[in-house]
Amino acid sequence: MLFNDITIIDENFQVSEHMYVGIDEDKITYISKEAPERSFGRVYDGKGKLLMSAFVNTHAHSPMTLMRGYGENLALQEWLNNKIFPFEAKLTGEAVYWGTLLAMAESIRFGIVSTTDMYYFSEDMIRAIDESGAKNNIARSITCFDDSDLWSLESAKEMKSIYENYHNGAGGRIKVDMSIHAEYTSTPKIVRQMAEYTASIGANMHVHLSETQKEHEECKARHGGMTPAAYFDSLGLFDTRTTAAHCVWLEDGDYRILKEKGVTVASNPVSNMKLASGVCNVPRLLREGIHVSLGTDSVASNNSLNFIEEMKYFATAAKERLKDPTAVTPVQALQAATVAGARAQGRDNCGLLKEGNQADLTVLDISGPHMHPVHDLLNNIVYSASGSDVILTMSDGKILYENGSFFTIDIEKTIYEADRMTREILRTL
Ligand SMILES: [Zn+2]
Repeated sequence: MLFNDITIIDENFQVSEHMYVGIDEDKITYISKEAPERSFGRVYDGKGKLLMSAFVNTHAHSPMTLMRGYGENLALQEWLNNKIFPFEAKLTGEAVYWGTLLAMAESIRFGIVSTTDMYYFSEDMIRAIDESGAKNNIARSITCFDDSDLWSLESAKEMKSIYENYHNGAGGRIKVDMSIHAEYTSTPKIVRQMAEYTASIGANMHVHLSETQKEHEECKARHGGMTPAAYFDSLGLFDTRTTAAHCVWLEDGDYRILKEKGVTVASNPVSNMKLASGVCNVPRLLREGIHVSLGTDSVASNNSLNFIEEMKYFATAAKERLKDPTAVTPVQALQAATVAGARAQGRDNCGLLKEGNQADLTVLDISGPHMHPVHDLLNNIVYSASGSDVILTMSDGKILYENGSFFTIDIEKTIYEADRMTREILRTL
């Protein structure tokens, strides 16, 4: 496929117009101002369009699409205890399958090709992800509230089994990560055992960290003044490639730990603001050289997977926290939404529009009235564009979505079944 005479965001996050981008099989093999001399198959008319690297969502709980809009405007603990946990207790593998497929459909519709997921019913999720053609770093997260040994937990057995059966599956599209859910849902014994196991197999770690002030302060009270970051570090959890979601309440020493261990902070600005958890200090993280990527968190607390909207919140929330309108540039927002996420997932040949990289791409229609005039296209992408401007999403060179059509997902059936599963669960509550 050849993108013909199209505007691009290149690997240095510069805008170039009138470009030619060729795809062979699953890779980007040609980027030039000159039209190629050979054929790349289908020719895509790039007039009024922008081609860029597809988005990477680095913190999600995909099956929670079924809880979209369920229990709004409640305090966090009330929302969790009275709405989310009872609903989750009734989930079935079939419900999780359809919920995940709905999330994959919404993701590719908004230009997200790859997601870092943390949930359970992993095999049902993997089935949906595989069928959708999207990429996913999936983790079966571990929780433990008593003195159990890691390997006595059913969740740990599921985690190990999906790692052994599916890691690097579906042509590398599916990776299996390890996950401790959070400090307040685990024990030091379990965290240490998980850290040792994860390091021994060379897997990635995915964890919630200092999302709320309550979590942060209660951890310090429980563990002799240690913050969640210091606590996990003391148990070796960051001795492998780690994605830490939220990091809203970090203290000075925490920044040093995250930097030294190369941890990626997955910031989830919409969810954090909707649950009134606070705003991550993204400018300080970036200034200190800490990797920062972007996530949606679950649809139950977002309430969408609209990544263009997420970028706008990422930039504007930081400005508000610091009371500084110069904080977070559009380039920093775009990097967090693409290459930083791919790096966090261990997908070093993804996340950039670059020759030799995997063809994980998205096209935006930039011809609409809200996208003009163009003083700086990157500003328009982050602050003026809308999720519905995404008109094509491609994973490994395969088009998953184009102009309202889904090529891997039966969208009508998926919506019908997700609605039906939700109704069935609600009937039993
Ligand atoms: Zn989360």
